[in-house]
Amino acid sequence: MTHPVYRKIVVKVGTNVITGRDGKLDPDILDSLTAQIAALAAQCVEVILVSSGAVGAGRGIVTLAGNLTPVETRQVLAATGQIRLINAYSDRFEKHGMLSAQILVTKGDFRDRQHYLNMRTCFMALLHQKIVPIVNENDAVAVTELMFTDNDELSGLIASMMQVDAHIILSNVDGLFDLSGDTKRVIGEIDPSSRNFSQYIRPGKSEFGRGGMLTKCNIAHKLSRLGITVHIANGTIPGILQSIVNGDPVGTRFLPQKSKHGIKRWIANSEGLEKGAVVINDGAIAALTDHDHASSLLPVGITGVEGTFSKGDVIRVCSENGTVIGYGMATCSDEKARATLGQKGHKPVIHYDYLYIVP
Ligand code: GLU
Repeated sequence: MTHPVYRKIVVKVGTNVITGRDGKLDPDILDSLTAQIAALAAQCVEVILVSSGAVGAGRGIVTLAGNLTPVETRQVLAATGQIRLINAYSDRFEKHGMLSAQILVTKGDFRDRQHYLNMRTCFMALLHQKIVPIVNENDAVAVTELMFTDNDELSGLIASMMQVDAHIILSNVDGLFDLSGDTKRVIGEIDPSSRNFSQYIRPGKSEFGRGGMLTKCNIAHKLSRLGITVHIANGTIPGILQSIVNGDPVGTRFLPQKSKHGIKRWIANSEGLEKGAVVINDGAIAALTDHDHASSLLPVGITGVEGTFSKGDVIRVCSENGTVIGYGMATCSDEKARATLGQKGHKPVIHYDYLYIVP
């Protein structure tokens, strides 16, 4: 038996992998995926499964009456379909002698550090008990700004939170295609630090929707900076998870860069969840973006404070023309930051250990 190259992984399964042309859950694919995860568990690989398909499964069983809004339609289909989806998984895992658990989350669950840590404790406890966590967005309550872009984003946040070795995104395509030549070819390996992968993505509507290749690449890019390997592969290929975990060259692999410690991972993932912002001058930008010296953000470099925040909240750091420089955890409230703005001799508003500079 080949030795697994990963010990802890997040596997994200797209709706298009587990539903057939008729929109119903595909029993053969579900059999195959659960058998593969069971085989990985037997090799002591910890797996967190993030599965889409609630709305799809709902569509296969509900006949909607009356005039529902798109939001109501999604809520009804997801709330109904999620039961089918989770049962489909849990019945199959039981056949392999394994327990599984359902975790439904919203974007808000990643907003507050304490809530984030509670969520992480739950995942850790489940893995410790050898129970497979099966995650989906809580589509019944997640509406507009509380929604993830898609489950690729959600699974990326979980991969980062759990500091997994690899994040495997299974869809119904073989990977990221090199579109520069005449023949389409899957790119086996991408070093996100040295290659601009966006050149391989054909701009078009399909690439930007929920589950599009562009979101996948952006998440891969971000996770790679956090030291996590990302794979994009075809989930309908038999044995695909085994192949990836055995280190076989299948699909597209985004190489990891150096790892960041826990709090910075959380801050790096806080984009869009920040409670306020500080605007900083050019001198402060130069100091914060100097790769040779780690600098904290001092009040003297701050020219403006926006929003309402408390000590411990994540805030955005912007230039005077609105460019986002980074994100950090505030050491004080917005009131205190306003009171000391532009002044020398005060404590940092963001300490460098709690500051993430956008690349
Ligand atoms: N949470 C949605 C579902 O279960 C899927 C979201 C996505 O496709 O990324 O249907």
